[in-house]
Amino acid sequence: MLSLLVIVALVITLLVFGIKGIITLVNKDPAETTTDSGNNPPPALPWNNAYVSVEHANSNIPVGDLILVNFKNEYPLTNEIGSNKYLTDLYGYEGHGSYYVLNSSNTKVRSSIIKSLQLMIQNLVDATPSLGTDASADRVIITSGYRDYNYQQVLFNTYMEQERSNHPNWTEEQCRAEVLTYSAFPGESEHQTGLCVDLISTKKVVLDESFAQNPAYAWLVENAHHFGFILRYPEGKEGITGYTYEPWHYRFVGEEAATAIYEQGITLEEYLQ
Ligand SMILES: [Zn+2]
Repeated sequence: MLSLLVIVALVITLLVFGIKGIITLVNKDPAETTTDSGNNPPPALPWNNAYVSVEHANSNIPVGDLILVNFKNEYPLTNEIGSNKYLTDLYGYEGHGSYYVLNSSNTKVRSSIIKSLQLMIQNLVDATPSLGTDASADRVIITSGYRDYNYQQVLFNTYMEQERSNHPNWTEEQCRAEVLTYSAFPGESEHQTGLCVDLISTKKVVLDESFAQNPAYAWLVENAHHFGFILRYPEGKEGITGYTYEPWHYRFVGEEAATAIYEQGITLEEYLQ
């Protein structure tokens, strides 16, 4: 009778948990059975182990938010993104002319991030007393979103010209090395993905470190991750990102990755290692 009961119990267990369930029940992970002393803080989550590598067809790459583009990783799909299938104009979008202004009517970003961007900027302006929505106020300018390959080429050539004229004694290599500390080589700019923007304000229409003094910057550093954005080129991380500090450049990576990057004080390069 006892053995019959055992067999019935086994059959029921098999039906409910399956074979794997039985193995799991038998081989319970010792870590699950240890008691918590209550004194130690929980260990840092192994974010880098929370993801697995996946193979993507080239045609699927434009849909990923975690694409890494830098001087080591060229972005091959600028023209696909630029087909407009993936882009939306910021001109005329919700909040344009009030929460943000543009310095080009042709500023576009990836359609998948535009709502997050608009919400981030609206929250930024609402939370920052020095910013406003009318012409007399200090207003957020989105100075750059998606760039096509040719535009990045033009930018790079312009910077090369500046370095040549500023340093007549420098070789081409020296000029190039200098430009590469603040501008991407064509094909290697994140802007070619449409997943990032440059933000400054009407108070000082210059793309330089002075934006870090604007209260907008302090808010962005602490809150951008709630909207899926990160400060992409932080101060002190130049050796990892390859770029000088850019308080104006924000990249969308999704809320989960952005929060992990913010909480750990790391860069996208370190997060994806
Ligand atoms: Zn930028």
